[in-house]
Amino acid sequence: MRRVVVHEGPLIVGGGLAGLSAALEAVPVAGVSKGALVVTPAPLLDACSSAWAQGGMAAALGKDDSAELHAKDTEVAGAGLVVPEVAEALTEHGRETVEWLASLGAPFDRDADGGFAVSLEAAHSMPRVARVGGDGAGRAILSAVVEAARAASHIEIWEDGRLRGLLQDASGRVRGAVIERAGVLVDVHAHAVVLATGGIGGLFEVTTNPAALRGEGMALAYLAGAEILDPEFVQFHPTAIDVGLDPAPLATEALRGEGARLVDRDGKFLIGPEPDADLAARDIVARAVHEARASARGAFLDARAAVGDHFPHEFPAVFAACQGAGIDPRVQPIPVAAAVHYHMGGIAAGEDGRTSVAGLYAIGECAATGVHGANRLASNSLLEAATFGRQAGRAAAREGAVAVGEVSAVMVGGDLPEPEMMALRAAMTRYCGVVRGGEGLEALCRMLDEMAVSHPVALSVVAAQLVAEGALERRESRGGHFRSDYPQTDKVALHTRMTARVAVAV
Ligand SMILES: Cc1cc2nc3c(=O)[nH]c(=O)nc-3n(C[C@H](O)[C@H](O)[C@H](O)COP(=O)(O)OP(=O)(O)OC[C@H]3O[C@@H](n4cnc5c(N)ncnc54)[C@H](O)[C@@H]3O)c2cc1C
Repeated sequence: MRRVVVHEGPLIVGGGLAGLSAALEAVPVAGVSKGALVVTPAPLLDACSSAWAQGGMAAALGKDDSAELHAKDTEVAGAGLVVPEVAEALTEHGRETVEWLASLGAPFDRDADGGFAVSLEAAHSMPRVARVGGDGAGRAILSAVVEAARAASHIEIWEDGRLRGLLQDASGRVRGAVIERAGVLVDVHAHAVVLATGGIGGLFEVTTNPAALRGEGMALAYLAGAEILDPEFVQFHPTAIDVGLDPAPLATEALRGEGARLVDRDGKFLIGPEPDADLAARDIVARAVHEARASARGAFLDARAAVGDHFPHEFPAVFAACQGAGIDPRVQPIPVAAAVHYHMGGIAAGEDGRTSVAGLYAIGECAATGVHGANRLASNSLLEAATFGRQAGRAAAREGAVAVGEVSAVMVGGDLPEPEMMALRAAMTRYCGVVRGGEGLEALCRMLDEMAVSHPVALSVVAAQLVAEGALERRESRGGHFRSDYPQTDKVALHTRMTARVAVAV
């Protein structure tokens, strides 16, 4: 018998930027809802990518920039799979979102005139990334949001709850979730459930994400019947610092924006001598780094000339990570590797977070809204998490109570034992990594199928299957997905849509 809690409003799962932005906007609606309940397995600011973001938030803030130009760059990066209207809907809220966060206390860097200081990142045609303290954007932004959420009387926060299942009624409508607290399962009945559970980096051996992010929200949404969009599209960051740490610390792209160069162990450029060669789209740079390491040339980020003595002041987080590993980036090139960084695919959702299942919303990195297509434009994800997160919070707060009826849990998920989890992570990196091939993906899918039989409630296996099966089905190379056996990009760009384990290209 599980405990039961009734919450009169939306239940928001995840306390990163998406979840807390939604919670702040989920203000009570008279006669309908009384505020938001936020659930995370760890104290706020821990175990979420939002707090680890370094570069900043993309928005058209410069005087020569525009939301249209930002949307265009987003579309080009997304390699044919960005939905233009959604990209426009996001970029036109850029300034408003940055100003909202600044009004909560996010200390964005300012220029001499008091405007937002912006820097250049890869594949942006303009400097448009609003930074904080050089490379401390995520923690500083999220800290302001956390403070606002803690002060808001309409928000209740559980910092010891993990999503284990979704509650649905006979019609399939989501009516709440099963949350594990201190080993006890609690059925939380709510007007709506907003999934804000972040990425999937923890399914791979080499990642920049907190290891606990394993796609559990996506797996449960899928099992509840929600449509999953383009799960095979994973972005690999080319410059994770390669010092054997799990997760791998990141050397922000802003370093290359400042002129740091990618070289091999003999100092030869990895991509080319042109000043902007290393600022090509992330998939191109990640493959160059992957190939240089595979061929034993080695891959390094040389910031000695471009940043040098300014390193500790301009990039304090990267400097600290390097120092912790015994590297002084002022005088030494930094060894780098490509690492899983961002999941473009996920739970298909609209700008207001609605999924294909009534009562279920998805926002932030666990959602696939059509903004990122096959390849995310750098620093668009914090903007999306806050902008669409807020819209979802408003929409979910307007969901009223549903007449009481029978509800049952989709599945009460469990964990994969640690040795199997390590095997899964190693196999995902090996066969579903920067370069993928049909034979390896088939072997991976067989291994995951066997794991699903021996561990039928392991949500990380379900999530890994979605990614691996999508990668096997996509017989072309596009954006973050590169197939050695299908290197061509098809003329027509098709989405992968998966519902109840049937993959169709439409
Ligand atoms: C090192 C690094 C640097 C980055 N730099 C940038 C950048 O400069 N600019 C940019 O735009 N993007 C950047 N990104 C990406 C960006 O940080 C993320 O895409 C974004 O923060 C995602 O926000 P989110 O709220 O969706 O997820 P997260 O912030 O990851 O939050 C997910 C939340 O869900 C919770 N959760 C997960 N599973 C469960 C469960 N089963 N039950 C309950 N809760 C659960 C987690 O504990 C967490 O609270 C970076 C990412 C990394 C890792």
